[in-house]
Amino acid sequence: MSAWAVVEKRRGRYPIGRPSVGADAAELAEIRIRCMGCGAPHAAGVAVTVCPRCGGLLDVEVSLDAKIRPEEIGQGLSPTLRNSGVWRYRALLPAIPESAIVTRAEGNTPLFWDDRLAQYAGLTAEAGGFGVKHEGHNPTASFKDRGMTVGVSHAKAIGARIVACASTGNTSASLASYAAAAGMAGLVLIPEGKISGGKLGQTIAYGARVVQVQGDFDEALALLRELTASHEVYLCNSVNPFRMEGQKTIVFELLEQLGWNAPDVIALPGGNLGNTAAVGKALHEAYTVGLIDRVPRVATIQAEGAAPFAAYFASGWDEYAPVHAETIATAINIGNPASTPRARRTIEQTGGIVTTVTDAEIMDAKAAIDRVGIGCEPASAASLAGTRRLVAEGVIAPDATVVGIVTGHLLKDTESVVAYHLGDNAAPGANRPVTIPATLAALEQVLADALHG
Ligand SMILES: *Cc1c(COP(=O)(O)O)cnc(C)c1O
Ligand SMILES: [Zn+2]
Repeated sequence: MSAWAVVEKRRGRYPIGRPSVGADAAELAEIRIRCMGCGAPHAAGVAVTVCPRCGGLLDVEVSLDAKIRPEEIGQGLSPTLRNSGVWRYRALLPAIPESAIVTRAEGNTPLFWDDRLAQYAGLTAEAGGFGVKHEGHNPTASFKDRGMTVGVSHAKAIGARIVACASTGNTSASLASYAAAAGMAGLVLIPEGKISGGKLGQTIAYGARVVQVQGDFDEALALLRELTASHEVYLCNSVNPFRMEGQKTIVFELLEQLGWNAPDVIALPGGNLGNTAAVGKALHEAYTVGLIDRVPRVATIQAEGAAPFAAYFASGWDEYAPVHAETIATAINIGNPASTPRARRTIEQTGGIVTTVTDAEIMDAKAAIDRVGIGCEPASAASLAGTRRLVAEGVIAPDATVVGIVTGHLLKDTESVVAYHLGDNAAPGANRPVTIPATLAALEQVLADALHG
């Protein structure tokens, strides 16, 4: 029977909180989920992504009773789990049985330090500097794989056959890959015409069913949430509490790379705010179990044209209003972030900051990251652009140590590179290829121009 047949069979009568059909339901009894709205507990053997009582966001509760020493991390795990930059932190993840775990050795991403980027941000490299936690080094080239391995594993553990997401591109590529790995069907809703060719190409190639919605991301997500509330389709957007659990490991891994010496600031782009939420939860947990002795401030950076969270922050958490999002950084082109309450908790708990940058600032910072040989997609560069702004404004001290989460790979969005360097309105300093006849004289002329130009 095709996986899609379950939709036919269950049409219109799939209650939220359907009992698990998975063989591992009993094992999942250990996992505790709680609504951050009304505090109600929920079982993990079912596909709940929001609280059935109040509609609030859910948190997986991990045990924080025992202290964890750094050398205990990864101990006692199988090689498969130890080789994953997500599952090696199993002590701080939901206890999904290993038989259900779908992993591609995700995570394990590098932390680069480059004095030129520190200088770009206005930071003193000798005192602190700017670290690039490069999540583009994941299997599908964005941080989304860290959450997806946990989300899809939970889906598998409860016996789901179709996993689905709405996406600005990277979530869809990741979901398609992990669904394929798990042997499940993947369903992806994307805003028509608003995602990059690279991300769309990945999603198609990995075999997910791709649906282009005539609307923006926010409309696509609302539509999918309606579908998954009434059909046997497992929602893998970052409202899913298991996604957030995997994304916490960006923080665990970067702290480990720093010898568990926390930086002063962790800066990251904010779109749907799942990552901001995850970073805060990770810091709280790492601090509580004694892995770090102080909590860095979290700086969430939004694009000016898609900044409802920044406006909410600026109002002193008084007024929240969704916006119609418009930014060149497609991965953060979101006007009504689903994880807003969780992200607010992160900013409050860490004494954090939310700010905005213009598309021009994003593309400029991206060019700086690209130019030192690291490279990223536009949204990722908001980390550096925002840090630069906050240093200039005196919010971040010049001697601070800042780690920027660089969320996706340069090859995710080559259209933006072409527009920046070759377009009609190419930036000053654009790196335009030259075309020459196939003669040595012409090539020598290129060298001479490079020498004098
Ligand atoms: C998803 C994504 C973001 C935004 O993360 P949120 O958790 O939605 O705030 C930023 N950059 C890239 C490359 C992404 O794929
Ligand atoms: Zn609730």
